[in-house]
Amino acid sequence: MTDEGEIPEDHPRYQSLLTRHRIEEGVEKGITSKQGLIAEGRGESFDYLLGEETIPSADEAERAAAAQLLLAEHAVLSVNGNVAALVPGEIVELAEATGADIEVNLFNRTDERMQAIADHLREHGAETVKGLTADARIPGLEHERGKVDEDGIYAADVVLVPLEDGDRAEALAEMGKTELVIDLNPLSRSPRTTAIPIIDNLIRAVPNMTAYARDLADASREELKTIVTEFDREKALEDAENAIRDIED
Ligand code: ATP
Ligand code: MG
Repeated sequence: MTDEGEIPEDHPRYQSLLTRHRIEEGVEKGITSKQGLIAEGRGESFDYLLGEETIPSADEAERAAAAQLLLAEHAVLSVNGNVAALVPGEIVELAEATGADIEVNLFNRTDERMQAIADHLREHGAETVKGLTADARIPGLEHERGKVDEDGIYAADVVLVPLEDGDRAEALAEMGKTELVIDLNPLSRSPRTTAIPIIDNLIRAVPNMTAYARDLADASREELKTIVTEFDREKALEDAENAIRDIED
């Protein structure tokens, strides 16, 4: 395996190579699951079709998501094996910029992987990592998949769920939480059921949300609310689908 530093930055597929490298390393460190590798492959194909760039409506979604995180009473950023492998430091920065908690939440939960991810996040500067207590359940999901922290996702009003599975996204929405989903596939169930679908690569979306959160740090609640209400989720999904189909509007 090559070192991250060995990937030439001027390589036309630099970002994609870097992403693959990080996921591969995540699997080796016991952070990312084999299913995570498959999810990465799926994501890459959609990113290729989107032109490997943040389309304008995704940029708007990232601004609206940043505003929503700043408005939250108690926001939580949910972290799985792909998020931990791809953007560990960036998630810590987003949490700091928005005052959100970080909680590890896995589809295929094992104690080893929970611990490995929590350690990895701490190495990247996280002070508190939730998810290991698992003293509450999301109603409507079977035991293992529904485990969350009582003072984390369970109590949150706003949850960022990057790459969430459709079932769990729906169950969280049914609990009355405002969900922000990052997913490269605009046809996937999770972005289709969420308040703010962010159709972009995690690697671009998370730092851009942090930049917006910093920009909006002094904005009034009214201004933040306006940004959220003016965001058009249907248009965001449609724009992403059109970009994939190469339709100009
Ligand atoms: P469901 O319909 O239940 O949501 P699915 O068909 O989306 O299931 P998954 O294996 O959970 O099945 O898909 C993983 C999702 O994660 C895909 O939609 C893929 O586009 C997305 N994805 C993978 N890597 C990234 C990434 N780096 N950034 C954003 N999205 C990604
Ligand atoms: Mg999905």
